[in-house]
Amino acid sequence: MKDAGTRRSSLLGWLGFTMALTGGCNCGQVRYRLALEVLPGTYACHCHQCQRWSGSAFSQSAFIPEDSIAISGPVVCFEREIGAAGAIQTQRVCGACHSRIYNTTTTRPGVAAIRAGTLDRSDEVECVAHIFTAYRQGWFAIPEGVASWPEGPSAEGFQALIRGERPKPS
Ligand SMILES: [Zn+2]
Ligand SMILES: [Zn+2]
Repeated sequence: MKDAGTRRSSLLGWLGFTMALTGGCNCGQVRYRLALEVLPGTYACHCHQCQRWSGSAFSQSAFIPEDSIAISGPVVCFEREIGAAGAIQTQRVCGACHSRIYNTTTTRPGVAAIRAGTLDRSDEVECVAHIFTAYRQGWFAIPEGVASWPEGPSAEGFQALIRGERPKPS
C-alpha cells in the first residue's frame, strides 16, 4: 500500500518534478538535502535514552543511506559507546542551537538515523513502527495495525525499515 506522500511524489516524478527532501535545525544554520525519491517511513523509539534525548515521549527517526545526506552548516559530532559490545554511535547536532540531526552507529555501517522532526515536510511523514515499547509512557497507545516490539525490532523488521518498507505487525 502506498501512502499519500509516496503517491504524490510518484505523480510529481512522472510529471517531471522532484519534490526536494530538505530539512535542518531550529536556528537554520544547519541545512541538509536528501538524495531520496520519497519520504522515508519513520519509526518511534520509546526507550528511556530517547525520552531523555528528546525530552519527550519518544524519538522519531528514519533509516536512510548515509551517503544520501548532503549537509552544510556548523555540524558538531560526538561519539558515545552503546550496548555491551562496544558499538560507537556518532551523533550529529547543530553546534549553534544543539538540534539533533542524525546519527550513525558502527553496528549498521552506511545507514543513518535521521530525526523525522528536522524534515521540512515533517507534516507528511508516517510512523510505520514503534520500538522499545516496554518503556513507553502510559498515556500513549500504539495505533492498531502498526508494527511494534517491546525491545529492539526483529531482524526482519529492521531490514524492512532499512529498505524504507512498512514492517509487518507481528
Ligand atoms: Zn541550529
Ligand atoms: Zn531509543
